Amino acid sequence: MFMTAASDFESPLYRAALARLDTIAERLNLEPSIHERLRYPRRALTVSIPVRMDDGRTEVFIGYRVHHDTALGPSKGGLRYDPSVDLGEVTALAMLMTWKCALMGLPYGGAKGGVRCAPRQMSLREREGVTRRYATEVMPIVGPDLDILAPDLGTDEQTMAWIMDTYSMTQGRSVPGVATGKPLIIGGSHGRREATGRGIVYVLHQVAHRLGHELRGRRVVIQGFGNVGSVVARLLSNDGGVIVGVGDVNGGIWNEQGLDVLKLQAHVEESGSVVGLPGAEPISSGDLLEQGCDVLVPAAVGSQIHEGNADRIKAAVIVEGANGPTTAEADAILHERGVRVIPDVLANAGGVVVSYFEWVQGLQHHFWRETEVTSRLQEIMTRAVDRVWATAEREKVTPRAAALMEGIGRVAAAHRVRGLYP
Ligand code: NAD
Repeated sequence: MFMTAASDFESPLYRAALARLDTIAERLNLEPSIHERLRYPRRALTVSIPVRMDDGRTEVFIGYRVHHDTALGPSKGGLRYDPSVDLGEVTALAMLMTWKCALMGLPYGGAKGGVRCAPRQMSLREREGVTRRYATEVMPIVGPDLDILAPDLGTDEQTMAWIMDTYSMTQGRSVPGVATGKPLIIGGSHGRREATGRGIVYVLHQVAHRLGHELRGRRVVIQGFGNVGSVVARLLSNDGGVIVGVGDVNGGIWNEQGLDVLKLQAHVEESGSVVGLPGAEPISSGDLLEQGCDVLVPAAVGSQIHEGNADRIKAAVIVEGANGPTTAEADAILHERGVRVIPDVLANAGGVVVSYFEWVQGLQHHFWRETEVTSRLQEIMTRAVDRVWATAEREKVTPRAAALMEGIGRVAAAHRVRGLYP
């Protein structure tokens, strides 16, 4: 049920996001007046979402929408459905979106939304009920020039179609720009569905190149086989990577010779899980992360790599597909052990980049071919990796610190010239 705003803001995830901001602010020598403003969300809305369930009961869900910062433009961020959602998590993720959009050079501030629910245990009709009521309740603070939604954990294209429809109905006209990650037929963009996974693979190629390696023949483990994880698996395996292990919320699977990703995809479509794929051995979710491999891609939920397992992770490179999969304590341990961590704020930014393309296409009613989308995505991802790498080398910091320095530095510069109203 409802938690008080004060106790929600005390959440470990929000505290960790603040600690990271404080460290970077010190490093950047940020003036306290700007640093202090960045520590708080601009606005946060908590809503209750009553829904008539299939068995006739009325259940009340709790939802949030948080705008962290809007100095660079309207806010942009995903909507997640998960039982663990709380105001602290949503606020921490909104803050991460601010840094991510700034790092990628997008004209957006950061936002996030969430509903505390278990979407996999709900029918399609119940999910539609949650989505339409949520969209109605957060309507005062969303819109194409104000705050734009996108899919995240537990939500998808269909969810965005319901959001777009609900918003449009109240305006008396179609408003595609209120959400991105929509189905193509109602103004979605070619390449959006694959964008986050594709961006991760571009970043990985760049990093491998800089380390003097190539991806062909590298052993890859992926945690999460949803939108992000499944695309990474498919594209990396097309590029010659060997996907030895994959996990989801139900458990993991392993094949030393490499999993057949197309068969795996068909199995997941049929059964709803990676577990039980013929020809693969079962493995626990915990063991999966600690197996020997070259690249580990956490692409599920937050805080999966923590103080308790960081010293047993054997991957040489971790590419953060999920948001916040590595805790600050684990980060320090991995750094000490020489494991390279390519941070979420850079690695998974392909999704918001193509969301930006979708928003621009919708505003102009002019749609691009898939090749145009992917080549522009590759260009933006490559530029961001270049900037992060250069900063990391110049400042002698980790890629995460460098990415945050770039992102936070740009947001601070916008605040500096805009000043403090009134
Ligand atoms: P999704 O709902 O499509 O898939 C999530 C996957 O993670 C599923 O396979 C699920 O079974 C698995 N999972 C859930 N809980 C788990 C647990 N406790 N242990 C192991 N596996 C678990 O979600 P998605 O869109 O693929 O997002 C995954 C992550 O990537 C999230 O952290 C999200 O914030 C981040 N992300 C997504 C996008 C995007 O465009 N979808 C963009 C940037 C970042």
